[in-house]
Amino acid sequence: MPEAVLSRAAAEMLDWHGSGMGVMEMSHRGKEFGEIIGQAEADFRQLLAVPSNFRILFMQGGGLGENAIVPLNLSRGGAVDFVVTGSWSTKSLKEAGRYCKARTAATNAEGGHVAIPEAAQWSLSPDAAYVHLCSNETINGIEFQELPDLKALGSDAPLVIDFSSHVASRSVDWSRVGLAFGGAQKNLGPAGLTLVVVREDLLDRALPICPSAFSYKLVAENDSMYNTPPTWGIYMAGLTFQWLLQQKEGELTGVAAMEARNIAKASLLYDFIDASAFYVSKVDPACRSRMNVPFLLADESRNEAFLTGAKAAGLLQLKGHKSVGGMRASIYNAMPLEGVQALVSYMREFERLHA
Ligand code: PMP
Repeated sequence: MPEAVLSRAAAEMLDWHGSGMGVMEMSHRGKEFGEIIGQAEADFRQLLAVPSNFRILFMQGGGLGENAIVPLNLSRGGAVDFVVTGSWSTKSLKEAGRYCKARTAATNAEGGHVAIPEAAQWSLSPDAAYVHLCSNETINGIEFQELPDLKALGSDAPLVIDFSSHVASRSVDWSRVGLAFGGAQKNLGPAGLTLVVVREDLLDRALPICPSAFSYKLVAENDSMYNTPPTWGIYMAGLTFQWLLQQKEGELTGVAAMEARNIAKASLLYDFIDASAFYVSKVDPACRSRMNVPFLLADESRNEAFLTGAKAAGLLQLKGHKSVGGMRASIYNAMPLEGVQALVSYMREFERLHA
């Protein structure tokens, strides 16, 4: 979370804008919360230039919830194509199989999830209800630098993206997207809020077994108030959207400024790793994530010493996910360049002492 957002939330905690109530104490149907959610939606639309034929839904259930909610709403029980590039798309494929004919159109599992299979080689089904991919694989550190143009690949299916771990870190080409979903807890706010951006023509396809609270159509018709929405999460995300809109890098503002900053942060770290024989990145440079940077120590017996020293230097949560091992630096939007500089300095010093 950006510190400015946390400070503002702290200042407004007991009394939001002179209302005599904190946000957690408000009725979600009251005028005050109506202002908060309306502003959050408008700000997100502006931030990511979401076209007017897309609805922005504030939901619950997280990324894993959406792995069921998307097929319940879009698959019609038919075929769905999955582009498997890592842990999260693998989970999406498996969960969707409970509701539809989930097919693997492409996978990088054989090479160990380190590169994106070339789009021209994907075997897309002519009858797919949609094509799913994870645009940033948080654990494997793989990011689509460009979304596929499914039409150019001969498919009329809408593209569904799981953008949980890089939403608002870069712009989105909505002309290539039918639906995007993401848990808020990386770049937008606290855990508990899920953001869904869905093209209007996809709202009316839900299976009869789809739970009402997870029906995109019902949620859209009720302006995300079919049931009580995660009000605190929406408020915090709204403050984050305002913070993002205010960001500047030279001539750039908002998400463009964040993108420039994220490129600078990621390049600093990858360039350092590539120049060193002590540290290793296994991910194809063409699809390295700007948000999640997994790396290994060439000599893994030094892992514990690396982590202990990092913690002492105030560099936290660097242990890699257990499925890939090694280290992972998650350098989300709110991580300043100085944080990455501190990490690189520590890595350089650790190498000097142990190489
Ligand atoms: N998709 C991606 C890309 C993720 O990074 C995560 C969480 N790390 C999930 C899905 C699962 O999200 P949740 O825990 O909110 O269900």
